[in-house]
Amino acid sequence: MFNEYEIWWVTGAQLLYGGDAVVKVDAHSREMVDGLNNSGRLPVKIVYKGTANSSREVTEIMRAANSDARCAGVITWMHTFSPAKMWIHGLQQLKKPLLHFHTQYNAEIPWDTMDMDFMNLNQSAHGDREFGHITARLHTRRKVVVGHWTDTATQDRIAVWQRVAAAWADAQDMLILRFGDQMNNVAVTDGDKVEAEMQLGYHVDYCPVSKLMEYYKKVTDEDTKALVAEYFRLYAHAPELEDPSTEGYLKVYNSAKAELALRAILTDKGAKGFTTNFDDLGTADINDPKFVGFDQIPGLASQRLMAEGYGFGAEGDWKSAALLRTVWFMSQGLPKGCSFLEDYTLNFDGANSSILQAHMLEVCPLIAAERPRLEVHFLGIGIRKSLTARLVFTSKPGAGLAATIVDMGNRFRLIVNDVNCIESKPLPKLPVASALWIPEPDFATGAAAWILAGGTHHSCFSYDLTPEYWEDYAEIAGIEMLRIDKDTTIPAFKDRIRWNEVYYHLFKY
Ligand code: MN
Repeated sequence: MFNEYEIWWVTGAQLLYGGDAVVKVDAHSREMVDGLNNSGRLPVKIVYKGTANSSREVTEIMRAANSDARCAGVITWMHTFSPAKMWIHGLQQLKKPLLHFHTQYNAEIPWDTMDMDFMNLNQSAHGDREFGHITARLHTRRKVVVGHWTDTATQDRIAVWQRVAAAWADAQDMLILRFGDQMNNVAVTDGDKVEAEMQLGYHVDYCPVSKLMEYYKKVTDEDTKALVAEYFRLYAHAPELEDPSTEGYLKVYNSAKAELALRAILTDKGAKGFTTNFDDLGTADINDPKFVGFDQIPGLASQRLMAEGYGFGAEGDWKSAALLRTVWFMSQGLPKGCSFLEDYTLNFDGANSSILQAHMLEVCPLIAAERPRLEVHFLGIGIRKSLTARLVFTSKPGAGLAATIVDMGNRFRLIVNDVNCIESKPLPKLPVASALWIPEPDFATGAAAWILAGGTHHSCFSYDLTPEYWEDYAEIAGIEMLRIDKDTTIPAFKDRIRWNEVYYHLFKY
C-alpha cells in the first residue's frame, strides 16, 4: 500500500553563491515539496531531505536512501548550478528509482525586475542540464519530468512514477507461491527464476499441494458458511444455488473452503501471489478413502484473490502472477480494474475482427461491466473433471493495455499492446468471464507484432495504466520494452526487434 512508502526529495545546490542563497534554496524546496504533497494528486508522500552541496553530502543521502526500506525512490532537482562531479559517487551507489525533476521555483520570467539575485536562485535551466549530463554518462536509469511544480499535468507524471516506484519496492520482497509446477512442456510461461530475482526482485517458491491441503483440512464450517453467505450477497445467482441439499451448493461451499485455505497459506507465508495447476489438486483419486484435495479447480478463489491484490498466474505461470501483483499495486485507487487474461479464441469478423479474452475460470472481477454472476457448471479439464463454481461476467468496454514479460534467454522482454475492449456477447455454452478486444493498430498487425515479439498467450491487462507506467517500469527494472500501438508497422517493429537483439547482446546496463 502506498502509505508504507515515501519518496525522498534532494535539492542540488552549491556554496558558490554563499550561505544566504542556500538558505533561500532550502526554503523554496520546502515550499515546493509541501505544494506537491498538498496537491492531492500524489499517492506517495514526498519527504524533503535537504540540499546537497558536496560529493560527501550526496553520497550520504544516497546511501541512506538505499538502506531505508520506506524510501521507494529519489527525486532530484538542481535549484542552482550543482556541479555534477559531486553527484558521481552518490549516483554510482543509488539502488532506488530516480526521478530527475526539471522544474524551477519561479514560473514566468519577471521581465522588469529580474536581476542577478533572481538568476542565482532560478538556475535549474542549466543546473539540470549539468546533472542530466552526468546521469547520461553514468547510464543512470531515471525518468526525466519537465514542467512547473504547480502544474497538474506535471504532478500527474510524478504520480505515475511514484506508483511504479512503490510497486517496484513492493516487488523487491515479493514471494510467489507455486502450487504445482508449470503446465507440462509449456515454454512461454516458464523462465529463469534466478534471473527474475536478480533483475525483477521477486522470489518464486514451490509449495507442495499437500501443504495447502493441511490448511484446507483446518478450514471451519462456520467460516465457510459465512463466506458462502457473502458470495450470495455480492453476486447474482440462481435461487436454487442456496439450497444446501444440491450439488451446486456443495460446489460453492467447497470453493469458499478453498478460498479460505489459499488465503490462510498465502498470509502465513507472506506471499503476494500464487500459481495453480489444474493437474495438481491434492490426492489424485477422489474415491481414495484418505482423499484430501480440492474437488474442483479453485477458480472462484483465484478470481476473488486476484481482486484482493494477490498476483495470479494459471498453469504455473509465475511471471504473470508477479506482474499482475505489480499491475494491481500500481492501479490502487484507479477506477476501472485489471486482470489476468488469456488469448482464448479469434473472432474473424472483417473490420471488427477481435480476440476473445478469457480463461477456463480465472478472470478478475475488477474488470466486470456488470454485477458478476455466481454459477456452477461442468468443467471437463484437468485432473478433476467436475461441476465447478465460477464468477461469470463480461468486461467493461474501453481502451486498456495488455502486458507480459517473457524470458528471451539473455534478458527479460516486456511487451505492451494497446487494446480496445468492445462489447462481448454472452456465451451460454461456455459460461466464463471474458473480455473481447481489438489490438492496436489493427487486429492483424497487433496480433502479428505480439507473435513476432514472442509474447505469451497469458497477459496482465489494465484499463487504468497508460504506456507511461510501463515505460517507467521498464526503465526502473532495466529490461527491454516493446510497445505495440497505433503507430506500429510490422517492418519497423521487426527492425526494432533486430536492433534490440544487438543492443542487449552488446550492452546490458
Ligand atoms: Mn492459461
